[in-house]
Amino acid sequence: MNPYTNEVVKEYPNATSADIETALVHGQKLFKEWEHEAPATRADQLRDIARLMRLHAKDLATTMVTDMGKLYREALGEVELCALIADYFADHGADLLRPVQLDSRANGTAEIRKHPLGILMMVEPWNFPYYQIMRVFAPNFMVGNPMILKHASITPGSAHAFEQIVHESTAPDASLANLYLSYDQVSDIIADKRVQAVALTGSERGGVSVAREAGANLKKNTMELGGTDAFIVLDDADIDTVTDIAWRTRLYNAGQVCTSSKRFIVAANLYDQFVAKLKENFSKVKPGDPMAKDTTLAPMNSKRAKDKLQKQVDDAIAHGATLVYGNEPINLPGQFFQPTILTDIKPDNPAYSQEMFGPVAQVYKVNSDQEAIDLANDSDLGLGGIVFAGDANRGKQVAAQIETGMVFVNNFMVTLPELPFGGIKKSGYGREMSALGQNAFVNEQLIVTA
Ligand code: NAP
Repeated sequence: MNPYTNEVVKEYPNATSADIETALVHGQKLFKEWEHEAPATRADQLRDIARLMRLHAKDLATTMVTDMGKLYREALGEVELCALIADYFADHGADLLRPVQLDSRANGTAEIRKHPLGILMMVEPWNFPYYQIMRVFAPNFMVGNPMILKHASITPGSAHAFEQIVHESTAPDASLANLYLSYDQVSDIIADKRVQAVALTGSERGGVSVAREAGANLKKNTMELGGTDAFIVLDDADIDTVTDIAWRTRLYNAGQVCTSSKRFIVAANLYDQFVAKLKENFSKVKPGDPMAKDTTLAPMNSKRAKDKLQKQVDDAIAHGATLVYGNEPINLPGQFFQPTILTDIKPDNPAYSQEMFGPVAQVYKVNSDQEAIDLANDSDLGLGGIVFAGDANRGKQVAAQIETGMVFVNNFMVTLPELPFGGIKKSGYGREMSALGQNAFVNEQLIVTA
């Protein structure tokens, strides 16, 4: 369903038991071959996938826009990021997986060798349809873990397109099997003895269900879940820089990013200026066709997502939040939500502890660095965050006290293959990308030789 036109574009059949068995048989066969191959032998195949993504970038981007509505130029950027991730793990994966010699008192030499585990079940969300796959695919391709993909139900076209790229490349077809699966089928696959690992990116609810299945079957897993990231503005921050970044980080991908800044925590001396400027910037966006160059606000991914956000905003206001800007209907057929600013959100307001997955900014006023830190940490989630300070060292000290997996100081939150990605608390566990992601699903086997 295209969320801009509300048209059904294409229907995809659910996977049958036979489709699942075929994927498992082929995946297991490939795993047995890959077990005996050095990771370096796969590097050129991964580079070929990067090359094909760049070659087909326009078509890949258009498919994503049709699936979930993101702006075309952001979609093109996502395709390039995926190619960058593939190139990075092609260049560095083998080195990150090299054996490690241990300094030990054991009789002889001790080393850790890194082996693949087996088939990995990955469950991915719709908000970055290719990037979410590539974060898991590239490092695990280098390890030698074949993968089965269950993508979000609303991005079947993107799932198919990614699989097609793998099949067109010199990589073995069985390295990635895209299957349109029900939740029960995912559970069955996790329970299968040929499957050894599970990676999920998505909501807390989805994470709990899938982690439960993985735990019940003692399969290693990583969980990349939601966030209510704070954007802290200290009293010496440069307000022009801050306000220019604030609206972009909230509205990118129509606000549907796990690491979007969702709670703006602003020092009292800058608060009024901050809110006024955010309002001005929000009022300038142009909703419209996500394929058009001059559109700056994309529709949300679905009616369901828009309705959920509307209910959250209505509840927040009913519980005493002040509506500073937005929350007006947008007179277009697509699933648009007007950028909205809420203030005066108290701890007893449901909005205080909810992830608002769309273009809604919550703004809080604080009187000290400590108050900002306490407010940022008063959340069940712990994914990322941003701190802006005139004095970068002071910003860094505040950053170190934020209970999340990632914090950026005086910077946009960026994602790059060399940087680990992941959270703590109910934002999940484990890390994707970087050396940490490269080693997430390996058997670190100890070999002591006398
Ligand atoms: P979701 O409902 O959990 O869906 C994510 C994926 O999990 C989809 O493929 C979904 O399938 C599947 N799924 C959900 N429950 C399942 C179950 N019981 N068994 C098997 N599969 C299941 O997440 P969402 O709400 O669409 O995505 C947005 C959330 O993802 C936000 O909270 C966002 O912050 C988070 N996110 C986190 C990161 C990160 O890296 N930490 C990145 C992006 C997004 P269906 O589509 O078929 O339901």
